[in-house]
Amino acid sequence: MATTQNAYFRTELELRRERLRDAASVNPGDTSLKNLLASVDAALGRLQAGTFGICEQCHDTIEADRLLCNPLLRFCLDHLSSEEQRALEKDLVLAAGIQRALLPRADWAVDGWQACYHYQPANLVSGDYCDLIANEDGFLFLLGDVSGKGVAASMLMSHLHATFRTLAGQNLPLQKMVEHANRLFAESTAAGQYATMIVGSAKKDGKVSYVSAGHLPLFHISDSGVCAREATGVPFGMFCATDFPVCELTLELGDKLLLYTDGLTEIFNAAGEEFGIERVHSIAKRHGCTEPQTILNTCLAEIRNFSASAKQRDDLTLLVLHRSR
Ligand SMILES: [Zn+2]
Repeated sequence: MATTQNAYFRTELELRRERLRDAASVNPGDTSLKNLLASVDAALGRLQAGTFGICEQCHDTIEADRLLCNPLLRFCLDHLSSEEQRALEKDLVLAAGIQRALLPRADWAVDGWQACYHYQPANLVSGDYCDLIANEDGFLFLLGDVSGKGVAASMLMSHLHATFRTLAGQNLPLQKMVEHANRLFAESTAAGQYATMIVGSAKKDGKVSYVSAGHLPLFHISDSGVCAREATGVPFGMFCATDFPVCELTLELGDKLLLYTDGLTEIFNAAGEEFGIERVHSIAKRHGCTEPQTILNTCLAEIRNFSASAKQRDDLTLLVLHRSR
């Protein structure tokens, strides 16, 4: 394991040891504190011996995201006791419920706009982020994809959700809000954890401004065709201080925006071929004039046909915003 990561775990464990010792000195009879203290000492011993993060059963590395959440782990996911497995499954089911509750309503609409989305984790919890926040003259739309998968990614997703929900109430200009959120996110996440994101603001008159932080192109679907809008900035959380250029566009009545995560484009078929952005573009061209839900359903049907029985490998989110006539 990298030296910087070991230093991080050492600091974290020493801090925990100090706190536990303080608590144990006040409650000397508490055996759970004593047991925890012994586990922390043992983890520090493994760091010293160079066996930290190695499964004691198979000697393979323990999943990094689990270790970040709990540095006391001694076994990889494949070698949990059945009691640990049941506890983990229960936790994950609860976490999935909490995450679902963070999503917008299925029939979401504000003055002159309607939205529909599809949110599908690869496993129980997702690292994709999707939110819609109504404000005085329209709404904010947010769609992102946190690096990695599973529990750690889902925690970062809920972190993004809380950050933007808090900042959205402050009526900041879009660029300021995004830069502020980026700084908060970058400062509170480990190196290598970031998110690609689209953060946009839509007004009742059809004016849309957005920032695309390293995210896949969004498609503007109108009567005159489909226009792909590329990313304009680096992913979120990569640098504490960075500019996020704001792009503008106007949606006429009937126009739509299609946003998605790489769970759509990075699906592979049996021949190892990737679904890719061009196929999404083609769906937008062929089905752009249909209802938002039909566009979503078509995307889902096409990836199902394309990948046949292959297991979904990545979290998948699709969002269609429609300026209704
Ligand atoms: Zn193992």
